[in-house]
Amino acid sequence: MNNSVYQSAEEKNKVLPGVLYLVATPIGNLADLSERAEKVLREVDFVACEDTRNSMKLLTLLGISKPVISYFEHNKTAKGREIAERLQSGQSCALVTDAGTPAISDPGEDLVRLCAEYGITVTSVPGCCAAITALILSGLPTGKFVFEGFLPSDKKGRQQRISELAREERTLILYEAPHRLQDSLSDMEASLGKDRPIALCRELTKRNEEIMRTTLAGAVAHYKTTDPRGEYVLILGGAKPKGEMFFAEMTIPEHVAFYEQNGLSRMDAMKAAARDRGVGKSDIYKEMQKK
Ligand code: SAM
Repeated sequence: MNNSVYQSAEEKNKVLPGVLYLVATPIGNLADLSERAEKVLREVDFVACEDTRNSMKLLTLLGISKPVISYFEHNKTAKGREIAERLQSGQSCALVTDAGTPAISDPGEDLVRLCAEYGITVTSVPGCCAAITALILSGLPTGKFVFEGFLPSDKKGRQQRISELAREERTLILYEAPHRLQDSLSDMEASLGKDRPIALCRELTKRNEEIMRTTLAGAVAHYKTTDPRGEYVLILGGAKPKGEMFFAEMTIPEHVAFYEQNGLSRMDAMKAAARDRGVGKSDIYKEMQKK
């Protein structure tokens, strides 16, 4: 089946009626807006924005005066339907979010799904995405990676999610708010160990862009004396494959005994073994009961 949006080569850069365009916008450097993104914003019938005030600033800078409609987490059901109906009536729409690629940790995925249900054509005008920009700058393996987005904001949920990710061998991409950075780094260090490599990518594409390539212990120590400022993407090295870990050939009791011999209490030794193996403490406890 030919799903192409474009019927001919000439139409490639034309804004077509009844099409939703997912338009990536800069994450800090206005010059990163593509020529096609500007053209689409100029030519569509209306723009759906995560925050109309934010996007109006961008449109004003570009000298574009255009009807805008807000589309965000708390109005997405009603507004999504309205946008889809306008698209069905033949209008064209650009969806933009506050920064970066729509539908990556910001509104968009529901609208794409809804449009697909309505049989509306959706296409993209790709550009900046903070996750990929940080990944390629991190110096960590890029061949296989996992996008995790934001960790839960409550401590218990965050710790739980970090422990679920402990055995993930692929490079991890996380978004983090500056006011939660120190807590998240401490929780990661406690669960993933001091030596796990991390790149803290701050204020990407902006004047104060900074990439700090270190370990979890290094990051925790740095942010004990420095206030986190600006926007961050964290790129975390994956876990070493199990076969390469020091405990690969040990039974669970031997693994726990190893930590006890290194000065940990039985309880802490079981916790450490559970963390290494990416299993729950109760699994270790059960194995130890069999001894
Ligand atoms: N959809 C966007 C994208 O394409 O990356 C991300 C939206 S998400 C709501 C916003 C998060 O992206 C921020 O909290 C931060 O973690 C990250 N981010 C956005 N711009 C950034 C920048 N210039 N430098 C570092 N991180 C950034």
